[in-house]
Amino acid sequence: MAKYHLNLAHLYGNLLNTYSDVGNIIVLRYYAKQMDADIAVQVISISQEFDPAKFDLALFGGGQDYEQFVVSKDLPNKRTEIKQFIDDQKPLLAICGGYQLLGQYYIGANGEKIPGLNILPHYTLSQDHNRFIGNITIKNEQTGDEYHGFENHNGMTFLGDGERPLGKVISGHGNNGQDKTEGAIYKEVYCSYFHGPILTRNGEIAKHLLLAALHKKYPNEDFSNQEQLIIKPTF
Ligand code: GLN
Repeated sequence: MAKYHLNLAHLYGNLLNTYSDVGNIIVLRYYAKQMDADIAVQVISISQEFDPAKFDLALFGGGQDYEQFVVSKDLPNKRTEIKQFIDDQKPLLAICGGYQLLGQYYIGANGEKIPGLNILPHYTLSQDHNRFIGNITIKNEQTGDEYHGFENHNGMTFLGDGERPLGKVISGHGNNGQDKTEGAIYKEVYCSYFHGPILTRNGEIAKHLLLAALHKKYPNEDFSNQEQLIIKPTF
């Protein structure tokens, strides 16, 4: 029996799971175990209620334009609750399509405007007959950590006020192929175009998300031992 218990909401996990973004949950559990924590997972999808008070962290994965369009129709029903979760400084990992949908809007590959939650200020345009596909390396300029991954997206995302990039592009395309930014950080929301899933190769992000969730849920506990956990991915 683990000492700490976390509840994770997998937002639209049955629809948005491109390139196995669900693997991020396996990685979170792997590191959580080393922190004496377990994670219960619940998929929250179309027409299902999302109660932010019941969850300690969340995952919002990527998808194809069609699924994103389906999800966008349901988002207004959950906007207040998702915003509450984010404003409460609870950690949320958003990948590709989920990242796009947290922002103002996404212009799909066929030119259709897919409205987002408009909680984060970024917006996403479409490229003409092109996708950004391939390996990517970025550097988190706050921590100095390098992150490695694989990107595959049509969308070109432009960040807005109050969010900073997850990292600076060292090689690859990143948010838009123009400004050398990749992903976004806003409060405890971590966004990225990395699939594959991102946390397998970038355990430091998993560790950060878990510690943010643990500190929030157990404010009187001392997690300094867990903070010293050395991240050694074995995947
Ligand atoms: N459909 C979106 C795009 O192409 C997101 C893709 C994804 O999640 N991989 O930009």
